[in-house]
Amino acid sequence: MSLPAALLSAIERHGCFSGCYRSDSEVLTCIDPTRPLEPVVSVACTDCLTFHPGALASLLPLGMTGNALAAALTAHVRTLRSYRWAAGGYHTKGGGFWLSAAYYGDGLFLVDASRNRSTRTDVEVLADAFRHGVLQPEDPRMVDPSLYTSELSYLNMHAPITNIRTKQDLLASPQRSATPRQSFQRVSIVEFQPLVAALASAPSTSTPAPSAPSTPAILSVPPTLRPAGTAPRSSAPPRPLTVGQLCPRCGSEVQERPLFTGTYLACRC
Ligand SMILES: [Zn+2]
Ligand SMILES: [Zn+2]
Repeated sequence: MSLPAALLSAIERHGCFSGCYRSDSEVLTCIDPTRPLEPVVSVACTDCLTFHPGALASLLPLGMTGNALAAALTAHVRTLRSYRWAAGGYHTKGGGFWLSAAYYGDGLFLVDASRNRSTRTDVEVLADAFRHGVLQPEDPRMVDPSLYTSELSYLNMHAPITNIRTKQDLLASPQRSATPRQSFQRVSIVEFQPLVAALASAPSTSTPAPSAPSTPAILSVPPTLRPAGTAPRSSAPPRPLTVGQLCPRCGSEVQERPLFTGTYLACRC
């Protein structure tokens, strides 16, 4: 039993950029005056906290919890928008902070930490998230805020912005505005300069090899997000496992697993 098409369509059209969802408390609702209340499983958008899509439990796969629905919807949007990873919501490490972020690869991020109402910039909160292990950096230097550049923008993700490889691709999209607009969301377009510079100087201009996935991103990328507290990847990581394979270290199957309010692709170690 797959997820209801109307539910998927609603989250695909929701304009918040991270596409991350967390579970809501269960609701019982009346759909027939003569029958008992029916359970509803719903989730909340971690960017705006005001969009609460859901479905009657009877329309969802048997036993599907709010956490499972949130993970499935988050993964669906992340794949649709070609993010390597996305994260959203509140995290308690490092004194606690709000952070919505999405990563396209090659040093290109979308970041919004404005909900913190602090003087820290989006880049500083992103670097903090790497430093505290909330997010796993692709490059160990990503903990240094001075290595980033950032441009404030407004995006409307009511439809996926496709074929994004560089910041210029985002700036050229009609779904991006330099000034605030109705139904556009504040976001910083952030570049990690060491990787952006490496991409710009790459010898091949037609098919830059490092990150163009030939299969859906969800299946082809190594885990860039790990649970807080686990060791970072060594400098010579083993070949990434793919979905369904068993990890030689912990024996767990590699599958989509919830993290923070986003998801990551990994085994259990
Ligand atoms: Zn939202
Ligand atoms: Zn493992």
